[in-house]
Amino acid sequence: MSKVLYVDYDRCNGCELCALHCSFAKTGTFNPRRSRVQVIGWEEKGLFVPALCQHCANPPCAPACPESAIIKDGKTGTVSIDYATCKDRFSCIPACPYGAITIDPATKRVIQCDLCGGDPVCAKVCPIGVIQFVEEEKLPVKREAYLEKYGETLASMPGRVVKEGSR
Ligand code: SF4
Repeated sequence: MSKVLYVDYDRCNGCELCALHCSFAKTGTFNPRRSRVQVIGWEEKGLFVPALCQHCANPPCAPACPESAIIKDGKTGTVSIDYATCKDRFSCIPACPYGAITIDPATKRVIQCDLCGGDPVCAKVCPIGVIQFVEEEKLPVKREAYLEKYGETLASMPGRVVKEGSR
């Protein structure tokens, strides 16, 4: 059984603990802007959605990179950036259907969830279990349906530039 990320965003309260811990795990600083999880808020609607890489079966960011710096691990399913190959062209950013590739304001390099080597810290620290890392067979809904709704919701958030229809 392979584990996948599941974001039960209807219950997210926007506390950003996930982003703070992700930032600390990856950079040693508590700065949500340096996190691989970006908690997007739509305050009028009381809606908060943590945007993070869903490690697509066929990640559209990979062919968008002219340097082939985005790697899909065939064994673990993890999508990651090969920083030795990446030339900071940023063409992966608009290709992501979840807006989950961002730029670290300190390093000016693209950043994206790498599943923390198979034990994502965001899923461990969310106090109400919004971000889950679970066996695909145990998801409460079909993964395709979840991904479609997750992508549509993120695309509808004000100020978001995410590519629709590429899932
Ligand atoms: S820690 Fe959980 S509740 Fe808080 S912002 Fe992250 S996903 Fe939402």
